[in-house]
Amino acid sequence: MRFGKRECCYQVPPISLHMRWSQETALVIDTLTKTLYIRINQLLILWYRDKLLGYYCQQGGAAMPAQSPLQLGIECLKAGKIDEAIEHLERATAESPQDPQGFNYLGVAYSLKQQYNRAVGAFQAALRLRPNVPSVHYNLGLAYQADGLPDMAREQFEHALKIDPAYKKAEDALAALNSQLKKDDYSEMACARHTDEPAVGICTFCHLPVCSECRRILDGHVYCVSCAEKIGR
Ligand SMILES: [Zn+2]
Ligand SMILES: [Zn+2]
Repeated sequence: MRFGKRECCYQVPPISLHMRWSQETALVIDTLTKTLYIRINQLLILWYRDKLLGYYCQQGGAAMPAQSPLQLGIECLKAGKIDEAIEHLERATAESPQDPQGFNYLGVAYSLKQQYNRAVGAFQAALRLRPNVPSVHYNLGLAYQADGLPDMAREQFEHALKIDPAYKKAEDALAALNSQLKKDDYSEMACARHTDEPAVGICTFCHLPVCSECRRILDGHVYCVSCAEKIGR
């Protein structure tokens, strides 16, 4: 059926706005239904996958006899069952003490349980078995950081970056760690010019603390008023 200009006004009744509207509405409803249908399918698949993982996790591998404790541990980790994951992974590392993977995943599981001390031990064990794996150094750095050991954390992030200079996560973690330390550094200070005002930054050039009034930002760097003037010239 053609819309718009009519070919013949005797045979085809005038196309009303209503008719055009209903056609368009039908199209929209059709599209929406299809989208919804796809989305429901996706959700069902995800839900089923989680159920299945949870089931294998609870069965302790009985339903899947071919699965190793390492695989079970990884599946439980993915399913968010950390306690079960730790059980499987502790077994995995006891049974295969030469496999660094088990120790790495065990470290991740301990970290998720906020048992950072144990996590550090597990990551160190993984690195003893297979040194210079950037992701394990990165994980170890995160565990140190969470355990309140920023210097040890920095060492690990830097080590990861030395092995893989393009390791974005380690680079970001290092930057975040440094800016956090810088923040802690000047949070106790007062502005160099206004000693009653708390510092909100450190001048990149003269390294004096600045308050919010004295702070100038040029190209993303913090400067004090006088340095900003000098540099601006
Ligand atoms: Zn300055
Ligand atoms: Zn000031």
